[in-house]
Amino acid sequence: MGVNVSVNTIDRSLFLERRNGNQHQANIWPGGAGLSDALLDPYWSSHGIRITHDGCEAGRVEKTRALSRSDCALDTLRVCYDDTALYNCGRCEKCLRTLMALRICGALGRARTFPNGLSLADVHRLIVPRHVRHRYDELTAAARQAGDEAVLRAVQAAMGQQFSLAHSAAVLKQTLRDGALAGPLRSLLRAARGFRGAHQGATP
Ligand SMILES: [Zn+2]
Repeated sequence: MGVNVSVNTIDRSLFLERRNGNQHQANIWPGGAGLSDALLDPYWSSHGIRITHDGCEAGRVEKTRALSRSDCALDTLRVCYDDTALYNCGRCEKCLRTLMALRICGALGRARTFPNGLSLADVHRLIVPRHVRHRYDELTAAARQAGDEAVLRAVQAAMGQQFSLAHSAAVLKQTLRDGALAGPLRSLLRAARGFRGAHQGATP
């Protein structure tokens, strides 16, 4: 058929989930949301579940541009991952990503379901999960096309493509929280305490 596609099955995962805040019944991640997914994903179907694509001809920024033409859609827009009392928390990865798309589309000022607007400082501190990195590639291209340098810098910082002190601090914090550096840091502290003790006990 002349179709040239490739797929890495290790990267793909299917899960079923029901949440209160922003309900999902099924997701397949990550994929590129492109032709390869549309062709291959139906094969994940079974007798009990049918996998289809709806709207995969447009990316998230394009979809945001389309919905931003409707005040009704903007007034009811809910994307948040968090089960929060607020309609959208405005701070999670998905809220920030959506807010940047709204800003690029010139609709940020009309997005009333996000309580505190867009904080690009929060974007700098983001650590982008692997399964949504292609969304940030899309934002990079859209910000560049729109000439929005501040969003472009923030996205590149979040992706680790441009140095940002805030992002480096966030990565270090997460690494420490995950315990990856706990052992080496404990050794360093022990060594420092030993050095201080030997120094204090030394005869002048
Ligand atoms: Zn959120």
